[in-house]
Amino acid sequence: MTIKSVINLCKRVFSRKTSKTIAKTTPKKNAKKSASNKTNIATASFDNPLVFSRDQHPVSRQLLSPSALKVLYRLNKSGFDAYLVGGGVRDILLGLEPKDFDIATNATPDEIKELFRNCRLIGRRFRLAHIVFGREIIEVATFRGHHDNASEQDKSCKKTSKQSEDGMLLRDNIYGSIEEDAERRDFTINALYYSTKDFKVYDFANGVQDVKDKVIRLIGDPETRYREDPVRMLRAIRFATKLDMQICDETKAPIKELSSLMANIPAARLFEEFLKMFIAGKAVANFEQLRSYNLFGYFFPAVEQALNQAPEEQEFLLAFIKLAMENTDKRINNEQRVTPAFLFAALLWYPLQKHIQRIKVTTQLTPQDVFFAALNEIMPEQQRSIAIPKRFQAVIKDIWILQEKLARREGKRAFKTFEHLKFRAGYDFLLLRAQIEGTTELNELAQWWTDFQEVTNDARIQMIRGVQSPQGTKRKAPRRRRKPNSKPTE
Ligand code: ATP
Ligand code: MG
Repeated sequence: MTIKSVINLCKRVFSRKTSKTIAKTTPKKNAKKSASNKTNIATASFDNPLVFSRDQHPVSRQLLSPSALKVLYRLNKSGFDAYLVGGGVRDILLGLEPKDFDIATNATPDEIKELFRNCRLIGRRFRLAHIVFGREIIEVATFRGHHDNASEQDKSCKKTSKQSEDGMLLRDNIYGSIEEDAERRDFTINALYYSTKDFKVYDFANGVQDVKDKVIRLIGDPETRYREDPVRMLRAIRFATKLDMQICDETKAPIKELSSLMANIPAARLFEEFLKMFIAGKAVANFEQLRSYNLFGYFFPAVEQALNQAPEEQEFLLAFIKLAMENTDKRINNEQRVTPAFLFAALLWYPLQKHIQRIKVTTQLTPQDVFFAALNEIMPEQQRSIAIPKRFQAVIKDIWILQEKLARREGKRAFKTFEHLKFRAGYDFLLLRAQIEGTTELNELAQWWTDFQEVTNDARIQMIRGVQSPQGTKRKAPRRRRKPNSKPTE
C-alpha cells in the first residue's frame, strides 16, 4: 500500500467518523471529563481541548516517518510527554503528506540532548532540538509558556525572555504546559497534538473544525501575535496558498497596517522565509498575495519600487518575474531540481539593467566594469533585506555574466561557454528573456544555443563559423612580437 492510498483511506474514514460525538477532555492528569461530553457541537478551550479518539481521526502511525515515531517513543519511555504537533497532524487531516514532522514535549532541550546522540540544539531566539536521521530532521520543541506567568528570574534573564519595543519576542524560551504551548502556537489548525501513547488527537483551539472549513485563524489577538512575530503574517499567506484555505477576516484585517513590522525581521530569517514562499511550488500565488498585502517590498525593495513605476518604465519586469516563478513552480511540482539563485537572478535582472544604464551614461567605464559597478550597487542593497548565502550569490552572478557570454560565440568562445558549470541555468535564463522580450535577436540567439546542444561537434564548428561577431568586438590580429634584442622605436 502506498502512502497516498493510506492517506486516501484515512481521509474517507475521517470524513465518516467526525460526525460522531467528540469527547471533550484535557490532557491534564486527573482532569474531569467535560459536561459537554455528549454534545455534537463541542468547542475547545485551552483548558479543555476536544479529544478525538483513534476511530475519529485519520492520524495513524503508518503515516508518520519511522524517525518521528522513534523520537516520540523514546521521549515517552523516558517518562516525558511527547506529541506530534502542527503540520504533521494538520496535513494528515487534510489528506496530504506532511513536509516534516514536528514534536512538542515537556522535556527541556538539555534533557532531549541527553536522550539522543544525534541531537543538535539550535536557535537562540527559540531554542529547540534537531534530531538528525540522515537527511531527515525531526524538530523537537519544549512546550512554550506565557511570558507573563514566568518567574521574575526567568523574565529578567535575557537568554530566556526578551521583547523589543515593538512587542517582538527576541527570546522565546519560557517553558510551560501543553495548554500554554497550544496558546502560543500561531494558527488554530496548527494547535493539534497527536499522542502515540493513547493515539488521540488533542484539539485546543477548534483547529479540526477550521481544517474542515479551510480557515486560517490566528490564535489570540491578531495584532499582538503579529507584533510578537511578524513572520506570522507571512505564514498566514503561505498556509492559505499552500493548503488552498481562506484567511479569516480578523486574522487578515491588521496585516496591511502592520506591514512595516516586517522591517524587524532579521535578513537571515527572511532568506529562510523566501525559500518557503518561493521555492515550494506556490511562488506565483505567494507573490500576488504578498504584493496585495504590501509585504513583497520587504523582500525585494528595488523590485517593488520598479514595479510601482509607470508601465513604460518597467516594461518586462512583471511578466518576467511571473514567468520565472511559473517555471520554478512547474519544476518543483514535477520534482525537478531548482536553485533559488535562478529566481533571485530573474527578480533583480531588470533593476540591474537600470543600474547598468545609469552607470554607462555617467561614467567612462568599460562594459565589464560597468557590470561590476552595477553588481556592487544592487547586491549589497538586496542583502540588507534578505541574507543570500554566498554560494547563491556566486550563481546569480554567473547567470548574469553568462547572458553576455552567450551572445559572443566566435572562435573558441561558444565551446568555453558551453563548458561553463552554470551553462544550463544561463541558457534557461536566456530562453525566458527571449520569451518575454520577443526580439528577433534574442529569439535567434536562444534558438542557436538550443540547436548547438543538439548537434554533433562538427556541426557545432560549422555553426560557429556562421556566427558574425558583434560590431566592434572582432579581435584584432595578434601583434607581432618584437625580437628581444631589437631597439625600441621612438
Ligand atoms: P510546514 O512544515 O508544512 O511548513 P508547519 O505548520 O509544520 O508547516 P513549521 O514551521 O514546521 O510549520 O512549524 C511547526 C509548528 O510550530 C507550527 O505548526 C506551529 O504550531 C508552530 N510555529 C511555527 N512557527 C511559529 C510562529 N512563528 N509562531 C507560533 N507558532 C509557530
Ligand atoms: Mg512542519
